Amino acid sequence: MFNTYTKSVFIDGEWQDINEKLAEVIYNPATGKAITSVAYAGAEETKQAIHAALQAFPIWSEKTGRERASFLYKASQLMLEDAERLGNILTMEQGKPLREAVGEVKGAVQFLLWYAEEASRNYGEWLPSSTNAKRLVVMSQPVGVIGAITPWNFPSSMITRKLAPALAAGCTAVLKPAPETPLSAIEIMKIFERAGLPKGVVNLVTGDAEAIGKQLLTHKEVRLLTFTGSTAVGKHLMRESAEHVKKLSLELGGHAPSIVFPDANLAKAASLVLASKFRNNGQTCICTNRLFVHESVVADFIQLLKQKISKFQIGDGLEDGTTIGPLINEQACKKVEGHVQNAVEKGAVIEYGGERWHKQGFSHCYFNPTILSNITEDMKIMHEETFGPVLPVQPFSDETEVITKANDTDYGLAAYVFTENTSTAIRVSEKLDYGIVGVNDVFPATPEAPFGGVKQSGLGKEGGHHGMEEFMEKKLISFGMN
Ligand code: ADP
Repeated sequence: MFNTYTKSVFIDGEWQDINEKLAEVIYNPATGKAITSVAYAGAEETKQAIHAALQAFPIWSEKTGRERASFLYKASQLMLEDAERLGNILTMEQGKPLREAVGEVKGAVQFLLWYAEEASRNYGEWLPSSTNAKRLVVMSQPVGVIGAITPWNFPSSMITRKLAPALAAGCTAVLKPAPETPLSAIEIMKIFERAGLPKGVVNLVTGDAEAIGKQLLTHKEVRLLTFTGSTAVGKHLMRESAEHVKKLSLELGGHAPSIVFPDANLAKAASLVLASKFRNNGQTCICTNRLFVHESVVADFIQLLKQKISKFQIGDGLEDGTTIGPLINEQACKKVEGHVQNAVEKGAVIEYGGERWHKQGFSHCYFNPTILSNITEDMKIMHEETFGPVLPVQPFSDETEVITKANDTDYGLAAYVFTENTSTAIRVSEKLDYGIVGVNDVFPATPEAPFGGVKQSGLGKEGGHHGMEEFMEKKLISFGMN
């Protein structure tokens, strides 16, 4: 499907020839084998990409919302028609099971479609003035050129979640995908090309993250940086972007608690907790990281989890029936292993799994789905994001206690509550210090709703009309009357 080298830098509507000798090899995490290699570009290419985006900005931003929408519709159709092939590529570079990968591509399509619909709805306001001598109008305009930096855990949907609202708003962009997963980004650019996106409107640069990032941060014409990734890198971007008071939209780490109340539908809650924990092998920022179960049902709940987990099938995501793929790389596997070891040293009991999974012909980056009990607050797993398939379970006895524990983290992205009692659901949701609360629901990310965290989980929202507002500035026009 791929040659040994794949062009991956797209500037001003052209795929660039970059020094192939410096190419970066892309590996399939399931097998550890090379798929292809891509360009290792840096500051120079990023400057060119920013320049192209700047040139394209007047052309793109002056188009009507309807015109921008027709491009986004076309791109959504092309992507949907190609979802199976794109899903295959995504699984190959990222590792998630094919069904999840195709689901992600279809989710990515939904962002294009939703923002095609929103592109025409950039309403302004007419404000009643406090004096008859004035009339006040507020309009929204695109911020200008934006930089987008995306992670490897959702190589397709994180790109359209950022670019679709940016394009709908009238911005032009420079995209830097994660070094582990550039192939889905390349395919999305090809779709944009086929959909007739004018040259320079979206530019793609792969390579040296720091050098590319530095250009995006220090170029004063890049007005906004939208980033999904770790809190550590997010903080670095905040610091470095201060010089030009750049706008930032940051989706950072999480440490999601799931709380199971005694009146929950336990079988349904167990399935949902597992879906939340083991989706993408625990490698999402909204995956359950800590599970709190009421003491009266905790033993039964752990049994239910074990029964369901025993049906999971580990393997290459491209193989039929695989439900758990590899972790992205050795470093990720070591982190998971470290968290389990640390917990066990401090007294945790392994209820299920607990070690790596090995099979001939597969890479070493697999870890068995794991459940831990006898958890204490001093364990790393209770504070750091594991980003892997480990579920620590703790009993709780009352509502106030569990809310305090759930909020005891610097993160504040997603939290989940399982109960059949509406009053409990509302009371607890109100008190959870999180940007997103799922009540009997673990898939809250959807194009029509705002997604984003509080505390050190980020700034701003993606999705919904809120997501498009991030890419626009409000302008007041104050008319003095004759
Ligand atoms: P992870 O640890 O999950 O890979 P990162 O925050 O390191 O998360 O990476 C998310 C994205 O941020 C990737 O595209 C990565 O290349 C990029 N990135 C990492 N460091 C920098 C940096 N100094 N400047 C700009 N982008 C960076």
